[in-house]
Amino acid sequence: MDKFDKEHLWHPYTSTTQPLPTFKVKSAHGVYIELEDGRKLIDGMSSWWAAVHGYNHPALNQAAKEQLEKMSHVMFGGLTHDPAIELGKLLLSIVPRSLTKIFYCDSGSVSVEVALKMAVQYWYAKGVPQKSNFVTIRSGYHGDTWNAMSVCDPVTGMHSIFEEALPKRFFVHAPKCRFDDVWNPTDIAELQVCIEKNRDSLAALILEPIVQGAGGMRFYHPQFLREARRLCSENDILLITDEIATGFGRTGKLFACEHAGIEPDIMCIGKALTGGYLTMAATLASDNVANTISSHYPGVFMHGPTFMGNPLACAIAIASVSLLLKSGWKEQVLRIENQLKQELSPAVRFPQVTDVRVLGAIGVIEMKRSVNMANIQQQFVDAGVWVRPFGRLVYIMPPFVMQPEQLSFLTDALLNVVKEQPE
Ligand SMILES: *Cc1c(COP(=O)(O)O)cnc(C)c1O
Repeated sequence: MDKFDKEHLWHPYTSTTQPLPTFKVKSAHGVYIELEDGRKLIDGMSSWWAAVHGYNHPALNQAAKEQLEKMSHVMFGGLTHDPAIELGKLLLSIVPRSLTKIFYCDSGSVSVEVALKMAVQYWYAKGVPQKSNFVTIRSGYHGDTWNAMSVCDPVTGMHSIFEEALPKRFFVHAPKCRFDDVWNPTDIAELQVCIEKNRDSLAALILEPIVQGAGGMRFYHPQFLREARRLCSENDILLITDEIATGFGRTGKLFACEHAGIEPDIMCIGKALTGGYLTMAATLASDNVANTISSHYPGVFMHGPTFMGNPLACAIAIASVSLLLKSGWKEQVLRIENQLKQELSPAVRFPQVTDVRVLGAIGVIEMKRSVNMANIQQQFVDAGVWVRPFGRLVYIMPPFVMQPEQLSFLTDALLNVVKEQPE
């Protein structure tokens, strides 16, 4: 472990006095992460959903270099440029048709902040400023900034620590019906009651469509999403879908809301947008949302990050999304899904495991007990793979370019390490 790193650098969700070990990376190519000591690990995480094409991709490198020679950045206030325009055209050609206006921002959490602010300013513009609160489902994750955190699951999002300072949102239980279950209409009852009771104070429902990521890695029934869309429309509240993790093919659809055939009023995208190269996200809105905000005092949407529409990030995003669309992502994800279903299924019988589930290029092994992070991380590295569990969840979302034999190596290592955990 690097001494300076250990003494001075904060890593996500770890202590500064007793930090979990870190592994020093020299470079990364394709599906491999190379450590300083020369060991090569097969990457099971896509660097948190982002690196869908693997690392160091020639097409993305090329786009970055070409843009770098022109400009890395210019402010977006009063200026515009081809990378922002071309990316916008590309995005509008693939997102749900009702979304027509794009707000570029810096990161997923910021795009959620922007979405929440859009919803509040929408109702302000309509003359009903009291419609300013949010409802969401438990086990969700929407980012770590203030208001994004307020709609994260109260338990895994540690609301107890920030309780006094956090705005109070409405929470209903996460859907019980799993993706492949027979739909049970009682699953929507609690949300229906909550929305009907609180519609006068609610600006929007925010949720992750179909796949709840960092809040629990749960896959829920598309009918829940259809019913949620209907309830929002009937009760005059906006629907915000957070596709930051699910977007760009990860679940087997380009965007997860397509599993339910619904369209949101506002949508957040991020993570895989730049293929894992640079931080960039976007909040997309319908004409209705954007035009309503713009047609009332102050006539503008009140947000404007310094690095909005960063040309370098936009240029890489264009390359990444174009590559995705011509790479046969659908077949790749389906192939990974089938292989994961087959190769992870034996883990259901392990005494340490309570559940195994797969959707698209996401495989989850839910353990009976929380894993010991320091131990299991070392075991994965020793087995030649990069997997980063949290709590009771050991999960992978590999780059789409992973070849069958590489994926088998990864799932083999996964099962072997899981088998070694205490019961
Ligand atoms: C990762 C994530 C975010 C936050 O994105 P950051 O880029 O880390 O700020 C928000 N929502 C979902 C669903 C995510 O998976």
